[in-house]
Amino acid sequence: MEAVYEGRLKPYFPTGPVPSLSAGAKHQYRQQIIAGLKARDAVLIAHYYVDAELQQLAEETGGFVGDSLEMARFGMRHSAQTLVVLGVKFMGETAKILSPHKRVLMPDLGATCSLDISCDALEFEAFCKAHPEREVVVYVNTSARVKALADWVVTSSIALDLVNHLADQGKKILWAPDKYLGHYLQTQTGADMLLWQGSCIVHEEFKSKAIFDLKAQYPKAAILVHPESPEEVIDLADCVGSTSQLLKASQSLPHQTLIVATDQGIFYKMQALSPHKTFISAPTTGVGATCRSCARCPWMAMNTLQNVCQALEHLSPEVTVPEAIAKSALHALEKMVKFNLNNLNNLNK
Ligand code: SF4
Repeated sequence: MEAVYEGRLKPYFPTGPVPSLSAGAKHQYRQQIIAGLKARDAVLIAHYYVDAELQQLAEETGGFVGDSLEMARFGMRHSAQTLVVLGVKFMGETAKILSPHKRVLMPDLGATCSLDISCDALEFEAFCKAHPEREVVVYVNTSARVKALADWVVTSSIALDLVNHLADQGKKILWAPDKYLGHYLQTQTGADMLLWQGSCIVHEEFKSKAIFDLKAQYPKAAILVHPESPEEVIDLADCVGSTSQLLKASQSLPHQTLIVATDQGIFYKMQALSPHKTFISAPTTGVGATCRSCARCPWMAMNTLQNVCQALEHLSPEVTVPEAIAKSALHALEKMVKFNLNNLNNLNK
């Protein structure tokens, strides 16, 4: 059974593109950031979707690049007392909740996510109260207030395993906020899921007809798709998975050409791991049509060398989460981390 709830997407889009820097200015910012990291006992933790130059800098300075679950775990384990999270706000909040005694900085707290925006905590609370018989499972791309209402928090890398686990126990699920990922999980597991109607403005833009046409041009190419994409795009995929899973597939698949339906930021890592392969961005509606993202998350793009530098200099903006909310959200997040560790241990047996 699949049911649908008409959650609302409140429009919010950040301001236009950030002006590009000269090579000299970039070098200067990089040096200042390296010095700032040492002075502040800080480490950079970057998501795959931020600009390649930030991913590279994170790696070169002993920091980390990964998906949201890996980022949170790295932040917990690293000895640095200041975590500089390069991503979007829910990632900074997750890092703060899991590492409450550390200072968590973000270059711009206005960097949010259309899934987070779509899921207002008060509306979601009313939705949960209307369905008390359901286990509340929320995607990590939500505010701390929404996580605090959840029984479980999941990333796209463990969502399928967790929903399978709950379905095996006969649990009914209330899922939020991504309707495409929710529908994908429902079809894969047969679980009884009630879906909130949020979406990612990046993945929602991928077009099945255009991808189909592109595949005709590159018949030997494999198609990799993130499950936040529409069902008809997922249906074309050779591999469906989270960013980390798509990254692994880009290495392990024998195909030399890969059409990739996720944010273009992932190409930095894919190309670095498989320099001999060709990566093609899956088509969206296209600039000038109705495209709102063109395979590039506008909020991830708000992380820049300049504002990383400023964040380290001023120790601001700092991510804070009210204590009571952090406590409730921590419970669901810890269950996620534990569930993932148990899964990994079972795989390694
Ligand atoms: S790519 Fe989509 S899901 Fe990821 S942060 Fe941007 S809007 Fe949110």
